[in-house]
Amino acid sequence: MLRIPCPWCGERDETEFQFGGESHISRPENPAEASDAEWADYLFYRKNPMGIHYERWVHSYGCRQWFNIARDTLTHEITEVYKMGEQPATRGNNGGANPA
Ligand SMILES: [Zn+2]
Repeated sequence: MLRIPCPWCGERDETEFQFGGESHISRPENPAEASDAEWADYLFYRKNPMGIHYERWVHSYGCRQWFNIARDTLTHEITEVYKMGEQPATRGNNGGANPA
């Protein structure tokens, strides 16, 4: 089980949170001109890195706030927690993905 450090409540068990998928997914800037491949990438395709992965989580059974974490998919180590709209200081390596 993960121990997730909520930025508002502190470290809690994973069971208090819900996973919200990959962070930093942005809608195409001009939807009318986006190609099918750009829409497919936006809607369906997600990174599956071996290394740092940027994820959204919500503290469902706590403060109900959304936030981002940078988690190593090999060790499950959470290297950074940051608020929505912020960019991480942690950068992926060894196949880890960087946010857009
Ligand atoms: Zn919280």
